[in-house]
Amino acid sequence: MTDSVAVVGGGAVGVTAARALAARDVDVTLFERGEIAAGSTGRAAGLCYDAFAGQTDAAVAARAMDRLRELAAETRFSFVECPYVWLAREGDETRAAAIREQVPRMRERGRDVELLDPATLAAEYPALKTDDVAVAAVARDAGCADPAEYAAVVAERARKAGASVQTETEVGVTADPAVETPDATVAFDAVLVAAGAHTRKLLAGAGVTVPVKAYRVQALVTEQTPASECVPTLYDATEQFYWRPVEQDETGFGTRTPGSSQRPGAGGLLVGDGVEKRDFDPDDWERAADATFRTSAVERVDAALAPGVARPVEVERSWAGLCTATPDRDPLVGEVEPGLFVATGWHGHGFMRAPALGRTIAEQILGERGIDKFEPTRFDGDEQFPVVEGMTVE
Ligand SMILES: Cc1cc2nc3c(=O)[nH]c(=O)nc-3n(C[C@H](O)[C@H](O)[C@H](O)COP(=O)(O)OP(=O)(O)OC[C@H]3O[C@@H](n4cnc5c(N)ncnc54)[C@H](O)[C@@H]3O)c2cc1C
Repeated sequence: MTDSVAVVGGGAVGVTAARALAARDVDVTLFERGEIAAGSTGRAAGLCYDAFAGQTDAAVAARAMDRLRELAAETRFSFVECPYVWLAREGDETRAAAIREQVPRMRERGRDVELLDPATLAAEYPALKTDDVAVAAVARDAGCADPAEYAAVVAERARKAGASVQTETEVGVTADPAVETPDATVAFDAVLVAAGAHTRKLLAGAGVTVPVKAYRVQALVTEQTPASECVPTLYDATEQFYWRPVEQDETGFGTRTPGSSQRPGAGGLLVGDGVEKRDFDPDDWERAADATFRTSAVERVDAALAPGVARPVEVERSWAGLCTATPDRDPLVGEVEPGLFVATGWHGHGFMRAPALGRTIAEQILGERGIDKFEPTRFDGDEQFPVVEGMTVE
């Protein structure tokens, strides 16, 4: 019987697992070294989509999208529907071929995804520069959300369901399994380590080695721009960056004054990339975005908008964060030692999958079957591997 569970990490994954366990009458304690969403969740862009070609990934994404919408219907959490377009430009035959090959497989999985030729793309989104697009695709089942809001709302629900949420509490773990708090070592029937970029370090303290690297990514929000009202979420596979429209309120641009000439809802564009593909110490990395990233991101936005569309020039705010990588680009979700569980390795897709995989790991802790493909024991732990960024189309 699993009566008591410790969850280490108050990001999107940890709070989802804690809430799912508490809802099943488990005695749950969540430990978070900072505030809820203090890690990558509080730095994430909030893109959500179901455009996955693999059977498992597509099913997980579909389940997660359902949960996000359910949560938005039931709480103050806001989920904004917004199609997700990804494309390759002329001369980039490798990525164009990959997109052409992926989309039929996504459709076979029941995903609402279609290929768009440049003319159709231009007709649907005239604000995009399409004259050099080789191939594009759109996922209609997509949207955006504020990941920190998700974590706050789900943590509240976990508390209401009876979980003890202990913020500002940095802990260690042992293989017993137990949690070392600043005051005592406390035994639990099961311990889940969902500590994002710190997961490898924490598990090493328990004598468990997992092949997870932390790599640095960057994002920014531009000044207000009318383009934010008429573009989809975009991933330019050739230029290797993404953007999503952000709403006025979300970005702190202020709410619209009735009768003002400002276009209603004009927010900014949240632009991301700036990936540094090497292993970072999760306690020693630069939190501020690089000047080169800020400049190149604005230039790439400029190049991706159609002639005549007003361009954002200024950057409102920018930041960096860590993502986690595994050797095969699939996450580690499961038991590593009796009673000791892990959930990490999201390759930049951890927020959008947390509503599903946070539940999956909770179910596994309670003895149900997990997802074979994500079993952490598929690795020895000492694998050498290069970091591949999650959105990469190849
Ligand atoms: C710039 C950027 C953009 C991104 N955009 C997207 C996106 O659009 N869509 C998407 O799906 N994903 C995105 N991601 C990835 C996403 O942020 C992560 O995959 C996801 O947030 C991981 O959630 P998590 O709960 O596993 O980890 P985290 O959110 O990192 O949570 C782990 C928590 O553990 C805590 N912790 C660590 N050590 C300890 C300890 N010893 N004791 C107690 N607590 C501890 C940390 O403080 C942290 O709060 C982005 C990431 C970044 C950085």
